This record gives sequence, C-alpha cells and structure tokens, in this order.
Amino acid sequence: MKLTHKKVPVEFLAALPEGIKYVQKGGMDFLVIEQLYCREGHSLMAEHVRLHGEPSICLDARIGSQRGRIFVDAYWGSHDKLYGFLPREDDLHAITEAHCPHCGITLLTERCCSHDGCGSKEAILLNLPGGINSILVCARHGCPDHELIIKRMPEAITSKLRKINYFSESYDDMFQGI
Ligand SMILES: [Zn+2]
Ligand SMILES: [Zn+2]
Repeated sequence: MKLTHKKVPVEFLAALPEGIKYVQKGGMDFLVIEQLYCREGHSLMAEHVRLHGEPSICLDARIGSQRGRIFVDAYWGSHDKLYGFLPREDDLHAITEAHCPHCGITLLTERCCSHDGCGSKEAILLNLPGGINSILVCARHGCPDHELIIKRMPEAITSKLRKINYFSESYDDMFQGI
C-alpha cells in the first residue's frame, strides 16, 4: 500500500484540532487521525491493528447481509481497510451500517451526500476529542466523500481538506471508501 501525496493547507496545520496529527513521510505531509469516539465516549481506535504503521479505526459494520469488524486506515483521505468479512458483490454500493464495537450504538446520522451520483442520505459520524469536532464519512460503500466538521475554523479551510483522497497503488474498487 503506497500513499500518494496531496498538499495539506497550511492554515489547517496552524490550527490542528485535537485528535488529528500531522506526519511527514519522505518529505511529504499527511494528516493522521489519532483518536475518535462513539457518542457514548468509547474509543474507536484499534492499537493492535495497524495500517501504514498507525492504529486503525475499528467499526462494527453491516454491509448488506454481512456483518463484522472493519479496520479503516487512520490516514486522512486513505480508503484502505481490512475486513473481518467479505462484502458480497451485490452489496458493493450498499449503505454501511456502522456501530460502535464496544456498545453497539449506531454511528449513522442524516446527511445528504453531495458526491456525484451517490445520493446517500446517511453518513457515519465519528467524534474527535472534546465533543465539538467530528468527522463525517458518507455511508455508501464505495463513495469517497468525507468531511471534517471543525467548529471555529472557516469553511474555506475545511472544504479544502474534503478534496484530499489518497488511493493506494493496489487500488481495488471493492475496497474503496465506506
Ligand atoms: Zn460505544
Ligand atoms: Zn456518498
């Protein structure tokens, strides 16, 4: 898995929210999610399952008729993940019903996706430390839309981050997005 590089806006680096860190690899800059919680305050980070050397984000997910654990790459904009199950081909564009792996509470929230041709009305809500900032990921399996909701940061800056999407060289449509 090789990450390709997109520039991180300097305005964002100057006001990096808690739970997100900035790393440099080979002279290039990346944002990495360090901590996320469900609405009940359970950590969603899996220290023991690492992707690109960082703890991954663990979700209990149902995709169509299949259910199990998913470990999502903590690199912002990367869509690499490991599945504890195999989504069926018919379900590749289904809505991922994500739950906290500790308490089972749903992580879905209402949000109309603006990505071309997606039309999903649901997103996966992941809370950053402090209970104010959050990350929204379109719940449609295969849709790359994701967004940072940072209070006290102008939309002009956060909207630039939305456009950061990394794809690994071993890019495979089945394992893109959630
Ligand atoms: Zn929980
Ligand atoms: Zn979408």
